[in-house]
Amino acid sequence: GKNEQEDQKLQNCLSRIKNKFVVLSGKGGVGKSTVAVNLAASLAMAGQKVGLLDVDVHGPSVPRLLSLGQSKPHLDNQCIEPIQWDKNLWVMSLGFMLPNANEAVIWRGPVKMGLIKQFLEDVAWGDLDYLIVDCPPGTGDEPLSTLQLLGQDAEAVIVTTPQGVAVDDVRRSVTFCQQLGNPVFGIVENMSGFVCPSCKETVDIFTSGGGEELASEMHARFLGRIPLDPEIVRAGDEGYVFVKTHHESPAAQAVGSIVKPM
Ligand code: ADP
Repeated sequence: GKNEQEDQKLQNCLSRIKNKFVVLSGKGGVGKSTVAVNLAASLAMAGQKVGLLDVDVHGPSVPRLLSLGQSKPHLDNQCIEPIQWDKNLWVMSLGFMLPNANEAVIWRGPVKMGLIKQFLEDVAWGDLDYLIVDCPPGTGDEPLSTLQLLGQDAEAVIVTTPQGVAVDDVRRSVTFCQQLGNPVFGIVENMSGFVCPSCKETVDIFTSGGGEELASEMHARFLGRIPLDPEIVRAGDEGYVFVKTHHESPAAQAVGSIVKPM
């Protein structure tokens, strides 16, 4: 029937993607989108073919982070062309498809699921080494649909900040993945310490070690610390990619070691 044909279409597309990572966080503002974008760029810079998919319906960040605000993907009867951002990096965001960036989107779960499915099977991703999906924070419709559609070989990269208060949110993200049968690739601690530009000493602005403790408690891999870096904020605001312009910095090195290309 029609459903089987459609499932086949999705499976055909997914079979051409070697590694699938879904970037999650328990709550907003921890740097999840920043990590997703820089992780994708970092893998692309390492010569991998990378797709970056932003499934945040209510607050898509990827177009802004990559200065792609005005871009409209090319529609070719059955196919949506992802936007090529760099030699090895192709980008697709729900933000590209919204008529007006200032308008609130009111869509129910099934509608979002349909849209995410389209973004996986109707976008001409081609053969990819990595697909990185930036989900909205929490454990709502978008991460649920994304993991269900990608299947159980999709792995979660969970981003958190070092404070103890973030711990419960991360625990929720981890159990969410476990319930769906998706492996947790690991936990990244972002905004972890600040190197004082004048005295060069590392200051733990928030408490530190929350991510690492939690990783060991949840039997998840600890993927490292990304320090606070004012240049990351500037990059995000101005729409350039931090790991590309500051590839020598400790923060860029930390992003580069989250996923080591196979
Ligand atoms: P989320 O996707 O979790 O809501 P964002 O990626 O939008 O979070 O990041 C929130 C803000 O924090 C942005 O202004 C971003 O530039 C900033 N930010 C993220 N990571 C860092 C970091 N390591 N150092 C400094 N600023 C950061």
